[in-house]
Amino acid sequence: MQRRTFLKSAGAGLGVTAAALAPKAFADGPVIKWHLASSFPKSLDTIFGASDLLADRLNKITGGKFQLRVHAGGELVPGLQVLDAVQNGTVECGHSASYYYVGKNMALAFDCALPFGLTARQQNAWMYFGGGIKLMRELFKQYNIIQFPGGNTGVQMGGWFRKEIKSLADLKGLKMRIPGIGGQIMAKLGAVPQTLAGGDIYPSLERGAIDAAEWVGPYDDEKLGFHKIAKNYYYPGWWEGGPQLSFFVNLKKWNELPPAYQAAFETACVEANVNMLAEYDFKNPQAMMRLIKQGAKLRAFPKDIMEAAKKAAFAMYEEEAKKNPTFANIYKEWKSFRDMENQWFKVAEASYANFLYYSK
Ligand code: CA
Repeated sequence: MQRRTFLKSAGAGLGVTAAALAPKAFADGPVIKWHLASSFPKSLDTIFGASDLLADRLNKITGGKFQLRVHAGGELVPGLQVLDAVQNGTVECGHSASYYYVGKNMALAFDCALPFGLTARQQNAWMYFGGGIKLMRELFKQYNIIQFPGGNTGVQMGGWFRKEIKSLADLKGLKMRIPGIGGQIMAKLGAVPQTLAGGDIYPSLERGAIDAAEWVGPYDDEKLGFHKIAKNYYYPGWWEGGPQLSFFVNLKKWNELPPAYQAAFETACVEANVNMLAEYDFKNPQAMMRLIKQGAKLRAFPKDIMEAAKKAAFAMYEEEAKKNPTFANIYKEWKSFRDMENQWFKVAEASYANFLYYSK
């Protein structure tokens, strides 16, 4: 009882009381005030929320000694320039998706997602235990950055199509909003990929400038309203089987942090990483049911499309490996890790899931 009263009063005046309660390392430590530039708009609340969670946890763990001010995409720097801003010290840290920067080096995609790559669980296994973090940090060092896994959406959806896609032939000439490596593979299959920002997708789809568009999954897609104009909702988003978001920290700023502050940051990143996937797994099924009620038709990509896309993807990786030694080095490790993981996941996980989802 006494303890409960104590905790309650500690929570009530968090600013002062929590500082007094903070471990000595923080109580005697400096006040650190950093800015975080997110690549994402506040409307993508689950992804954007990871930065708020990080800021909140750091504040609480350190008793207010480590303060992060979070800025949405475009507020301090354009959403797609977060890596550059952290690299040159415009901001101390950022939250982004590493595959936005494949123009610098395609190997950065391993820090996020490659088509037919790792699932969210496999990505975590690779990062935390399979040597992924170490390999990726060697690459990020070139950009004066240390990075931390910072959330995952899980398998995304394949997007909204005005017309039903019955076979590979139906992709010919199809104009689809799909950026990045997924778009490059769609182009190899005959489609015409387009890169459009979130806010431009709905009007383009509505006036018929594009025939299809992918975004994230039911929860985020519902808010943009694609189901009102393109009813065919395809799965899976094979180009994003477990895309990981990342927190970037300027390496010089990181090295200046006292060890306890570094530990607090790293711990809060792990929480944000786990939290995002759980939040999506909570929100997506409910959104999917609402979308179906409003007329969305769930459809699986035809097998010939999946097979052709996978073949094109791995041909692209082999090609890239020939001309990019960094990519080749990480790809070799990543691919053997992926092949091993899939051998395991198809045994207990896949059979359990298949029975569970489809048995009466
Ligand atoms: Ca997507």
